[in-house]
Amino acid sequence: MSTERPFGKYGGQYVPEALMPALEELNEAYERYVLNNEDGFVDEFRERLRDFGGRPTPLQYAEQLSARYDRDIYLKREDLLHGGAHKLNNALGQVLLAKYMGKERIIAETGAGQHGTATAMAAAHLDMPCEIYMGETDISRQRPNVFRMRLNGAEVNPVTTGRGTLKEAISETMRDWAATVERTHYVIGSIVGPAPFPSMVRDFQAVISEEAREQLRDQTGSLPDSVVACAGGGSNTMGTFHHFVKDDDVGLYAVEAGGDSLSVDEEAGVAPNSASLSTGEEGVLHGARTRLLQDSDGQILESHSVSAGLDYAGVGPELAHLVDTNRVSPVNVDDELALNAFHRLSQTEGIIPALETAHAFGFLEAVEAGKRDAALGETVVVNVSGRGDKDLETVVEETTARDIDAGPDMDLFRQVGRSAGDGK
Ligand SMILES: *Cc1c(COP(=O)(O)O)cnc(C)c1O
Repeated sequence: MSTERPFGKYGGQYVPEALMPALEELNEAYERYVLNNEDGFVDEFRERLRDFGGRPTPLQYAEQLSARYDRDIYLKREDLLHGGAHKLNNALGQVLLAKYMGKERIIAETGAGQHGTATAMAAAHLDMPCEIYMGETDISRQRPNVFRMRLNGAEVNPVTTGRGTLKEAISETMRDWAATVERTHYVIGSIVGPAPFPSMVRDFQAVISEEAREQLRDQTGSLPDSVVACAGGGSNTMGTFHHFVKDDDVGLYAVEAGGDSLSVDEEAGVAPNSASLSTGEEGVLHGARTRLLQDSDGQILESHSVSAGLDYAGVGPELAHLVDTNRVSPVNVDDELALNAFHRLSQTEGIIPALETAHAFGFLEAVEAGKRDAALGETVVVNVSGRGDKDLETVVEETTARDIDAGPDMDLFRQVGRSAGDGK
């Protein structure tokens, strides 16, 4: 294994001794199969992405948005990937790799349920038993995704420790992995965790920028001036950036969740945002050194975003490094801008985006309104990381509660919001 740090001071393997052999074995398999295409792994991965996943996803010229912003806006439609988000690229890659490694069992953790759902789908497709750890609180908040996982044959193990959310689910999955590592692969859901996960997950997601770069050159004959993607852990982000990183003239914008505000309540241990690239400090979380939301004593702060998939205190080490070296610009969009962008994209382009994705579009609008300063240039590629079906209830509640002008459907939203509230 190469012990060099590809991400400057970030990354590494901050894990209990018991997990080191597992990481070494995984790293060897990553090099053999993913980097060197041994036994035709990469060919089989691409074939399954095509036939099961529906790749390539389109790069679509957005007529209305282009007119509104007086720029050429192209949408990379990862919302059209099987499952409705980019997450399958990674889940399918890792479950297939586990098969090549001779593993017999898949485990994963999930917060909002999106990664658990993608992993359950991939495991069913590849005929692998699958168990998903999920906090009890999240299970009750995300019932549709729990059903989807169960329908795909996965076991969902409720985690009752702590607050019953993602953090505890990750600890529980690590514990399982340490005890069963010989026959089990742990599918991590973003470009986070100990090496080689951040590089490997990025490689599985890099198909997004590989296609987008080709597609834009086919359509326009040139490269974009800028590329925009939302960032939670940062897997759709790095996937969309990867093949443009070496193109120095292409601006790369990672849009984080500004939540309610960028301020921090140290006493309560809360950062009402998930903007770890914009406001975080160096520290260690979930096996890697990266930028995190933490207090002055190094305690991890509780994060917030209206979008569950961005609600995470850390970020991938590679993104942290690319921000430190000024290659990626971190920007942020708060809950309200994101909700407005959600309605705008739905109405103007006929695309209902995931709330995570809506942050990327909120950034375009903020630049147009002069609220953010960015030289986006003439041609902009925006990654539509996922579709919004999973978010409709949240959107109804939040739109009503915040009195956001959603256009002609406002009364309908209020009605639906009220009856949804009555039913509680
Ligand atoms: C999970 C998710 C994200 C955030 O995860 P990243 O690793 O930051 O990409 C973004 N968009 C959608 C649709 C998601 O499901």
